[in-house]
Formats: sequence, structure tokens, C-alpha cells
Amino acid sequence: MVEERADLRTISGMTEADAETLLRGLGLDERYARRLLYWVYRRGIKSFDEINDIPGRVLRELQGHIVPGLSSPIGSEVSSDGSVKYLFTTKNGMAHETVFLPDGRRRTVCVSVQSGCRMGCRFCATGKNGWNGNLTAGEIISQMISIPHEITHIVMMGMGEPGDNIDEVIKACHILTAEWGLAAGRSRVTVSTVGVAPSVRRLLDETECNITLSLHSPFPEERRIVIPAEARWPFTTTLDLLKQYDNRIRRRFTIAYVMIEGRNDSQRHLEELKRLLAGTGIRVNLLPYHPFDGDDARSSDMSVMMRFKHELVISGIGASVRKSRGTDIAAACGMLVAKRRRGMERVDE
Ligand code: SF4
Repeated sequence: MVEERADLRTISGMTEADAETLLRGLGLDERYARRLLYWVYRRGIKSFDEINDIPGRVLRELQGHIVPGLSSPIGSEVSSDGSVKYLFTTKNGMAHETVFLPDGRRRTVCVSVQSGCRMGCRFCATGKNGWNGNLTAGEIISQMISIPHEITHIVMMGMGEPGDNIDEVIKACHILTAEWGLAAGRSRVTVSTVGVAPSVRRLLDETECNITLSLHSPFPEERRIVIPAEARWPFTTTLDLLKQYDNRIRRRFTIAYVMIEGRNDSQRHLEELKRLLAGTGIRVNLLPYHPFDGDDARSSDMSVMMRFKHELVISGIGASVRKSRGTDIAAACGMLVAKRRRGMERVDE
């Protein structure tokens, strides 16, 4: 791997306008901006030496001021079901994880937006390990470019709360969907949040990406125990933002409902879920729970999950049950970083 100077700015994370400003500032022709971005975002270069269609004098001038800024993973674990979890670290030493989830022709990458998280959700390994800092848009983008897989879908559902790093998340969404960026269709990019209302407002106004809200329980007093953010940003407030949005472009809004046996899988929960979502066009993803070390909670039985799905669908609410993926590599976010910190398991560094 080519070593990059930590003090230099990075192309990864730049918009077309940023790159043009950079070139102009160096007295170079701003028309090289698109080509530079192409080499970084589409070709994933780690060094300017790999560029063959920009004059050498331009590249030599750039080299003293800026680097591509893409980082390779420092470790990985492969699951028997084909999913792969990657461990990255920033130049400041902030660890974060990325998970690749192949499923037939759908090949999803789940990226982190922070190192750790300060939302403190109860059933989350990341939440238990505290917060180390925000990732930049460049570091968010770098995760999907630097893993060795073709990708069809991108979800910001790894470590961290997008609503707590919203400027960089919105910038990353623009880079992902722009023609000068990764040119991913907007319907292939999903941002998942616990529902930081002002940030959800900005996602609605400033991006065209899909949005997933984590619910856990339709009852505020129960949700608050598991997702402390409920106290500040009630789920119903954020839900109202989605309901009021003029969804002419048919963005997909989804509720993520992780099902835990005896905690949120009763008929009472199902009825309240139906009441909240009736007529909204918002779908429900029912997800199995991944227990972690020292945790006595268990995922709901598949038969219970299928009954939830069935009853939601017959009441007119789109619903699906997601498979459990990567259980042998602890694919729920934060677990690889936690293991590495505890030295319980070597990763292939
Ligand atoms: S579930 Fe998401 S928002 Fe909650 S602590 Fe974990 S990473 Fe943060």
C-alpha cells in the first residue's frame, strides 16, 4: 500500500465544486476536476501514479498538496454465508466497520458514519463501546470503494448515527449519487437513523436517498428504555415528517423493527405498529436480533416474525422478514471493533 501523508487533504470526500476550487487555487486548469474524481471514485486509486490521462506536470503539482485518500481495510472476517466484515481505521486511529452482504444479485455494503456512537442504544455493541469521533464524507465513501466487491446497494447502517454527523452524511449522499461521483441510483442508497428529527428534516430536503427509522417498540415508554434518543426526538415526531413529505419521487421509507423474544413481539405491539403505520405507505423490515456476549435477550422465533409480517401485509402495510446474516462473524455493528479492543480474536492484519 502506498503511504500517504496524514497532513494532506484528500480527494475522497470532495465534490466537483471542491475539486475545481482546489485546481484553481493551485493555478491549474479546473477542467481536470472530473477526471481526478473519476480516478478516485470509480477506479479507486491509492496513488496519482496510476492516473494515465492527466499531464505529469499537473499530477506533480497536485502531489505536494493532496492525496487520493482511500484507505484499505486493516482486517476482515468471512462468514459461512458469504458476508464479510471489514475493519478500517482512520489516520487518527478511529476504528470502524463495514459489512458486505451478498444476496443473489443484490450486493449490499453497510458502512459506518462514525467511530463508535453516542446514542447509547441498549441492544447495540457499538453503543456500549462509546464514541470516538465522526467520520468525514471521504472516510465514509472510502469504505465502499476500498472493499474488493461489486456493489449494488449502499446502506448507512453500520457504526454510528447518521443524524449525529449529518453534514458529512449529506455530502456522502451527494457524492454517491452524483454523476461525477459514484453515480449510484438514488434508490440504491439508504440512510438509517434512530430519528434525530432535525437531521431527518435535512435528509428529506437536501437528498433523495431512502430513509430507514429504527423503531424497536411502538410504545414511547418502552422505546425510550432501549433507544434513549426517543426522549429528545420522539418517534412519532419523526414519523410525522415522513408522513408529511410530498413523496412524488417515490423515495422508500422503512421502519426497522428488530424482534426480541418477550420484549417487543406481542400482539399488543403488533396492533400498535399497525395503528401507527396504517395508510402511510411506509414499509416494515422485521429483523432478527443478534445477541452479543453477556446478553440474555434472544431473537423472536421465525414463526412469530412471519406472523407479524403476515398480519402487517393483510392490513395493507408492506412488510418483509430479513434473514439473519453473518451470525458466525457477529455481523451486528460494533462487534469486530469490540473484539479487537479486547484482544479476544485476531483479525488478519
Ligand atoms: S443502534 Fe445505531 S444509533 Fe443506536 S447505539 Fe448502535 S450505532 Fe448508535
